[in-house]
Amino acid sequence: MKICFTLLILAILLSATHGFSQGPALPNTLGKVCASEKQNASLLKASHTTNLVNNYDLKYHRFRWLVDPAQPSIRGSVTSYFVSTAPDMSSIQFELASVLSADSAYHHNFKVGVIHTGNLITIGLGEIIPQGSLDSITVYYHGNPPQDNGFGSFSNGKHGSVPVLWTLSEPYGASDWWPSKNDLEDKIDSIDVFVAAPNGNKVASNGVFQGEEAYGPNLTVSHWKHKYPIASYLIAIAVTNYIVYSKDFIGGPGNTFPVRNYLYPEDSARNIPPIIQLEPIIGHFSFLFGNYPFALEKYGHCEFGWGGGMEHQTMTFIGDSSFHIEILSHELAHQWFGDKVTCGSWHDIWLNEGFATYCAGLMYEFISPDHFWPIWKYQNVSYITYAPGGSVYCDDTTNVNRIFDSRLSYSKGAMVLNQLRWMMGDSAFFAGLRNYLHDPALSYGYALTADFKAHMEASSGLNLEEYFNNWIYKEGYPSYTIRCAPDDPADIVLTVSQTQSDPSVSFFGMPLPVVLKGENKDTLVVLQNTFSGQEFHINTGFKVDSVKFDPDYWLISAHNQIILGENDLPEGKHLRLQPNPANDILTVEHNLGKLKNVKIFDLSGKEQKAIIEENQQQRLVLNVNRMIPGTYLLQVCFDQKCVRRKFIISR
Ligand SMILES: [Zn+2]
Repeated sequence: MKICFTLLILAILLSATHGFSQGPALPNTLGKVCASEKQNASLLKASHTTNLVNNYDLKYHRFRWLVDPAQPSIRGSVTSYFVSTAPDMSSIQFELASVLSADSAYHHNFKVGVIHTGNLITIGLGEIIPQGSLDSITVYYHGNPPQDNGFGSFSNGKHGSVPVLWTLSEPYGASDWWPSKNDLEDKIDSIDVFVAAPNGNKVASNGVFQGEEAYGPNLTVSHWKHKYPIASYLIAIAVTNYIVYSKDFIGGPGNTFPVRNYLYPEDSARNIPPIIQLEPIIGHFSFLFGNYPFALEKYGHCEFGWGGGMEHQTMTFIGDSSFHIEILSHELAHQWFGDKVTCGSWHDIWLNEGFATYCAGLMYEFISPDHFWPIWKYQNVSYITYAPGGSVYCDDTTNVNRIFDSRLSYSKGAMVLNQLRWMMGDSAFFAGLRNYLHDPALSYGYALTADFKAHMEASSGLNLEEYFNNWIYKEGYPSYTIRCAPDDPADIVLTVSQTQSDPSVSFFGMPLPVVLKGENKDTLVVLQNTFSGQEFHINTGFKVDSVKFDPDYWLISAHNQIILGENDLPEGKHLRLQPNPANDILTVEHNLGKLKNVKIFDLSGKEQKAIIEENQQQRLVLNVNRMIPGTYLLQVCFDQKCVRRKFIISR
């Protein structure tokens, strides 16, 4: 799912003054997207608890629905094939919104009793179903689905003056419009979707379109068939006077399939070009993650009346103004991350949203590595760090706003992945992603954060316990102060101190990329930072006149400070040379404690004789009257620290 909050704030950040003032901004159509989304935001109040007795494993659903896009109602039946997983199964339960009517149920063609209590229906099967045996049940129902739940699970709208109907069940909305097992444990192995609608409408859904036929004088039945495992929240239909635009994606053996798009007729000229623009991205994601997961069937887009996109399996739903390459890439990526491997709890929603968000970034890296890719990273880091706290791991799954928190589940999840890529290197990182997607225990099933972590540890050989604790489960981000003593080419000293924006983390241990520049040269160094106040000595071979921290935006950090040269002492400490330039006497005043030694170097690094006239507790006097005029480096060492200062002798 892609909602617009992220983009809105990123657009604002983009307009702020920063290093990307030159060149085009990230293209977007944000105004319309967000205006629409704000209406939907007021609906985000669903919570979900279930007492469903889970004594069966779903195998198959056959849906038969009658809908009219002009009407807020549904009538139909759901036939469910299931395997009993309990020794004494005599009844079966589904979730169904209390405002819908469960009319009847049939078991082996015998009518059986249905009890509808709250949002749960219980159907007596009239016999004990042996554990492990396959059975089926059909439930007939009708009514007006609730209109105030989640993102609007069953909605009517209009494009122009033409009615359109769509469903959007994530996270808890499936039972608003069909009797479902509304969980993240049991994927349905395959489905058939039959939808009857007034003539002139077309129906978009999951899987492969099987055809349509007349049903009486006024209705047409469309049939879709999907034969991959699917989570209940990813089953969807949309109905209006669509035109169909279909084009094959040619990706080689095992990765060639139709991309079948259902578009409002009036928008097709505008929305087909972005769909074509997506073709190389399908190829790129296939290269990075393995073949498109549903290549035996199709991919597609279906226009609907919501502000954003939703990754319904094999058929992404896209708001009429959201046909933008970033949103299309995000939803496409969900087919791997979200649909093929689905978060196993809403606590772990970042496994869907953080990954899809990062993949949209990978799209920018692919099409615009030097412009949009760094802008995208900068924007996300800025967005994440504009507030001090919040964890990627979703700590409140009763709140839909929190589950789909764009700063945490989306942006921070994405940049935690980017940071992990920096730590692991590209080869191990992408191998880990592929292993995760192809793990038989997870593939076409569900995964938790621990499953992902295990794969990344296996592919990198790293222990990522602390990394996941700090960056997924705990909160905040680091701010760095890097003090640089820049003048000795053989011994550039970098002192790195860190504060944290949230008290849940005492220290973020990270490899820090730092670029040192000077004398028309530069070098990238990686500081393996393991504690605050850590000192690094680097032989650059040149004097440093500028230090750039994390120039490629690998890290989540903010409010960083570079202190070059004289400001290399802790607050309240000082070391002053006077006069400077000196003639015959150079006085050093300090409050750094007991002096251990004093050295003077010329700029070639050659040590000069230092004549100490006076050495008191906070005052050192050097006689320099025999030194030839020029620039020198004074190094004074104390118990904890050496400090270097340039001074000049002139006469
Ligand atoms: Zn998403």
